[in-house]
Amino acid sequence: MEDLMYDEMGMMVVSENHCCEHFEPNDEVLVPMKECWCCKWSNFRVDSRNGQSDGYSICNYIGNAKEAVNR
Ligand code: SF4
Repeated sequence: MEDLMYDEMGMMVVSENHCCEHFEPNDEVLVPMKECWCCKWSNFRVDSRNGQSDGYSICNYIGNAKEAVNR
């Protein structure tokens, strides 16, 4: 990704079609593409249930958090 963005908690903000080496398919996705949208570490499916999906979500993988990067 071009410029990495982080939310107020220091978690990485990801777009639907971003991907990284920590990708792990989400069990709910029938045909998982290697994209954050299909990754178990993203909040895309939770966000879309709440009607909040706007093409961006949070990556919950702790290794991608800002704190982990800085330590
Ligand atoms: S959600 Fe996080 S861990 Fe999963 S592919 Fe995207 S950046 Fe990587």
